[in-house]
Order: sequence, then structure tokens, then C-alpha cells
Amino acid sequence: INNRSRSESLYQEALEHIVGGVNSPSRSFKAVGGGAPVFMKRGQGAYFWDVDDNRYIDYLAAYGPVILGHAHPHVTAAICRAAENGTLYGTPTELEIQFARMLKSAIPSLDKVRFVNSGTEAVMTTIRVARAYTGRNKIIKFAGCYHGHSDLVLVAAGSGPSTLGIPDSAGIPTSIAHEVITVPYNDLPALEQALDRWGSEIAAVMVEPIVGNFGMVMPKPGYLEGLCAAARRNGSLVIYDEVITAFRFHYGTTQTYAGLPAGTDLKAIEPDLTALGKIIGGGLPIGAYGGKAEIMSQVAPLGPAYQAGTMAGNPASISAGIACLEALSLPGTYEKLERLGAMLADGLARGAEAHGVPLTINRISGALSTHFCAHPVTDYEEAQDTDGEQFAYFFRLMLDQGVCLAPSKYEAWFLTTEHTEEDVSYTINAAASAFKRLSEKFH
Ligand code: PMP
Repeated sequence: INNRSRSESLYQEALEHIVGGVNSPSRSFKAVGGGAPVFMKRGQGAYFWDVDDNRYIDYLAAYGPVILGHAHPHVTAAICRAAENGTLYGTPTELEIQFARMLKSAIPSLDKVRFVNSGTEAVMTTIRVARAYTGRNKIIKFAGCYHGHSDLVLVAAGSGPSTLGIPDSAGIPTSIAHEVITVPYNDLPALEQALDRWGSEIAAVMVEPIVGNFGMVMPKPGYLEGLCAAARRNGSLVIYDEVITAFRFHYGTTQTYAGLPAGTDLKAIEPDLTALGKIIGGGLPIGAYGGKAEIMSQVAPLGPAYQAGTMAGNPASISAGIACLEALSLPGTYEKLERLGAMLADGLARGAEAHGVPLTINRISGALSTHFCAHPVTDYEEAQDTDGEQFAYFFRLMLDQGVCLAPSKYEAWFLTTEHTEEDVSYTINAAASAFKRLSEKFH
């Protein structure tokens, strides 16, 4: 692919009207050397086409939701049906009950759910509910985990493992950042130290139980059990942010995932509250949160914690979500994602090795991350300590061969149910030629 002239001119036009030319900063190519991002105009299955009619194999999957590929017929039909009946009523609908039942049957810790419009909203509200329930203000989060763009979770670690946070974004008061303590993921002593230090002030421990935001990172054996036990001893709630992970690796969330480290006690890792998004909307905007009835009864109109939404539970998003989960529940879905994921990871590893390019691949089912480094990646520090320049070069070489990845060294590759072995083979070959170029340039 060597002609992206229309993307380039649309980008110039977009810059005049849309801040930074993009409606989410992760879409900009800033982290991979800048320039025009690719403007897409159509997607079908595992492919999408840009405005210059170039075809790409899509491993971005819209940052996760598009697990069934683009324009999946079952989801498309559900959206069309919903649209024909009107897209918003501002009243309850039967569809919402059906969808709540589906989520509850897949996620045992949900007694009650509430639908919202994005992962950000879902996470933001779980924090409010936890504060209302515990009467405490502070939360603990983990370095490198992303939980949307609300004030409280856009906070990074201070200088030590149990110091108060500093804002990660302009516009967040230091007083708010001081309600957040950031500790390293996969480091139980650091969490216990923070809980000891801030004890009765901690409303909740907020975590991506399996991390998707600095690569795909599994909890170490015993980590989630230890995290939950430590939080409970302290009277703090455990909030799982499963916006990326829910329905990604199997039909459910982390608390029922058989792929966790051997010996994981699933009962001991049940969260109090769960935030959901992405896949559960089948590609339309959605978020949801839920948990134990006693905790969820804090939420208005039952309780004093207010949360509302004009668009919440809209029939189009709910219908797309139901259709998406129906398709995912068909036999063989996750087996296919696992099989293609293994094939892709093996092929990438072989290619990198053949050309002497150090590469750490973290794979969980059909999601994997590629880290240009020679060490394992189990926490944010290790993910940061990887070669962004090599990633940027690799990203461009792949894009030029018609393989689209997320433009960030921290993001995962997502397979969809529509990728084929041919797509994966093509990708492996494209990567091998990219690794060859990388070895000439960097090694
Ligand atoms: N939580 C996690 C784990 C996420 O990965 C994201 C988005 N990447 C969010 C929350 C925020 O979701 P949204 O972009 O839908 O607001």
C-alpha cells in the first residue's frame, strides 16, 4: 500500500474542524511518529477499507468491541430491527430485562445491573457506589491500568508505592488526585502496604483483573485471591473493570475464566462490583455496571447514589448487545479465537526469532500484545521499558502491507471470529518481512 493520499487530505481537513483531527486521542498517530491516521470508510468481517480503497486485515477491532468482525449479519439485523421501531423512548423496555438476564447468567457476581453509555461511565459510577456504600473516599488503582477518562481514574502514581496520586491530565484538581493511590499491578506487598497506610479511608480497590491496557497481562498465581482478601480485611470493596476482558476470552468475565493461573480459587476472586463495556454493545455505545444487590441498592431511585442517563439502555445498543452475545455463545467461538491466537503468536515469535528481534508476546486467547524487549512483561514498568521506536517502525511496515494494528506499543492485537487461517498466515509473513527490516535497522 503506497497511496493514502485521500486519508492525508481528509486529515488536513479534519484538523481544521475537529480537535487534533480525531475524536479520541488514541486514534492519532502521535505515538508512532505522527502524520495522518488512516480514514476508514467500510468494514466487512475481518477487513476494513480506507478512503483510498486499500484493504486492511483489522487487528484493532475498534479497541475491542468488534469481536465478531465488522457488519456481522446477526448484529446488523438486530440494529436495523431496533431502528425501525424507534431508537429511543425514555421508558423501560423488555429488551433491557432480557439483556440483564443474559449478563447475570454469565457473570455470577451480578445480582443487579444498570446500563450506561460507555466504559468510562460504568467505571465512574462504580466508584460513586463504592463510596456511598462504604462512606469512604479514597480508591486504590494500579499503574498503567486505564479506566476511562473520568477525573478519579486519570491519576498516576506519585513518587513512591504508597504516596497520593498526581493528575495525569490538566483540568483535574490535585485535591481529587489526592483521593487516589496508585500501586504496581501484580505486586501484592505494595497493595497491602497502601491498604495498611490508608486503611479506613479506602472505599475500593479498582483493577483490571486481567490487564488489557499495557499489553495483555495475566495476574500472577495467587495475586487476585490476595488482592480480594486484603481489600476485604480492610473493609474496602473490590471493583473489577472488565470493559476489555468481559466476553473476550470466554463467555463470561475473569471470575469464571478457566484460563487463569492453575489453582486459582474462583470463589475467592469474586468482585463486589463489575464495570462492563465494549463487547457487550456489539459495536454500539454501551457500558454497564453491577454487583451485589445490597451494594447496588445504593443507586437511585432505590438509594442515595445518583446516576442517570438519557441514552442509557437504548434499544439499539441493547439489541446489538443481545445479538453479539447470542453469536458469541455459539459452540466453537472461543475455540476458534484460541486456535487463531496461538497460530498468530507462534508465527510472530518464530519470525522475530529468525531475524534476531527480541520480542515478548503476551497472549490470552485471541488477544495478544507484542513488546519489543527481551524481558517478560508483567507490570507497567516492564511494559514501559520496551522499544517504542521499533514498535512504531513495525506498525508502519505492517500498515503498508495491509495489516492494521493499534498505533500504540501498549495496545493489544484482537482477533475476531471472522479472521481466517489465511489472514493469520498472511499476517505472519508480513511480520517476518517487517522483522527482517527491523533487524537491519536496529540490531
Ligand atoms: N476500562 C477499560 C479497561 C478500558 O480499556 C476502557 C477503554 N479502552 C475504558 C474503561 C473506557 O471505556 P470507554 O472508552 O467506553 O469510555
